[in-house]
Amino acid sequence: RTVYVNGDYLPEDQATVSIFDRGFLMADGVYEVVSVLDGKLLDFEGHLVRLKRSLNELAMDNPLSDDDYLAAFRGLVERNALADGLVYLQVTRGNPGDRDFAYPAAGTRPTVVMFTQAKPGLADNPAAQTGWRVISIEDQRWSRRDIKTVQLLYPSMAKMEAKAQGVDDAWMVEDGVVTEGTSNNAYIVRNGAIVTRALSNDILHGITRAAVLRFAAEAQMQVEERSFTIAEAQAADEAFITSASAFVMPVVEIDGAAIGTGQVGPVARRLREIYLEESRKAAI
Ligand code: PMP
Repeated sequence: RTVYVNGDYLPEDQATVSIFDRGFLMADGVYEVVSVLDGKLLDFEGHLVRLKRSLNELAMDNPLSDDDYLAAFRGLVERNALADGLVYLQVTRGNPGDRDFAYPAAGTRPTVVMFTQAKPGLADNPAAQTGWRVISIEDQRWSRRDIKTVQLLYPSMAKMEAKAQGVDDAWMVEDGVVTEGTSNNAYIVRNGAIVTRALSNDILHGITRAAVLRFAAEAQMQVEERSFTIAEAQAADEAFITSASAFVMPVVEIDGAAIGTGQVGPVARRLREIYLEESRKAAI
């Protein structure tokens, strides 16, 4: 693979970052993941807007212009002949030359790293035909989940717990209601209405969530932005998740209880089709 580090395109085994980088020592960094279908970027603009918001919330300099980011994403897609897959982008507070809790003085250049991950047939993932099974787990993350930081240890632990139980993912629960999946936003469908938690600092503001809710409204589907419990989800007609890499993925079981028929439902299926069709059209 050819990867990107601070303006340079390099073979992956020649790309290096300092051991003093604050991303490495403090998880002091933010990231984005953008899907690529047929060599084109999906929802690129939305991811860039959220990246800049994350940087701003952490008082971190934005080292590149919007055009620079786009050029680098396209540069990597081209150099790696990427048809279907992901582009990962990470910006950390850089290398102050030593370890210190305080942010470095102005002038320390943020570290920008980007790389591609090939996922042939990403849009035809067979899991979308059978759906995911999930477990519930307590949400033990920090309280600024709206910032997309690289501090991903708890979601990793939750994912490992899901794997240990032989399922696909975990839905995190706080104060008795679902926050989100380990790396996705969570939804249920009840009596034709799509229900998903309202935006706040408690969840990541998914770019796919925004797009799917817009498409749902355009298709005259009812949307309720409110919290729900695991019990309500287990009694729902359907459930699904959204993320940039999974698009719309049906969920057919929670904590061993089948949702609805236990098969992929019509609302999740339709939203996945609409999302893929519309985002492919708008891809750049
Ligand atoms: N919530 C969390 C915790 C996530 O990590 C992600 C994926 N990065 C999402 C939601 C979905 O966001 P998006 O649709 O922008 O990928």
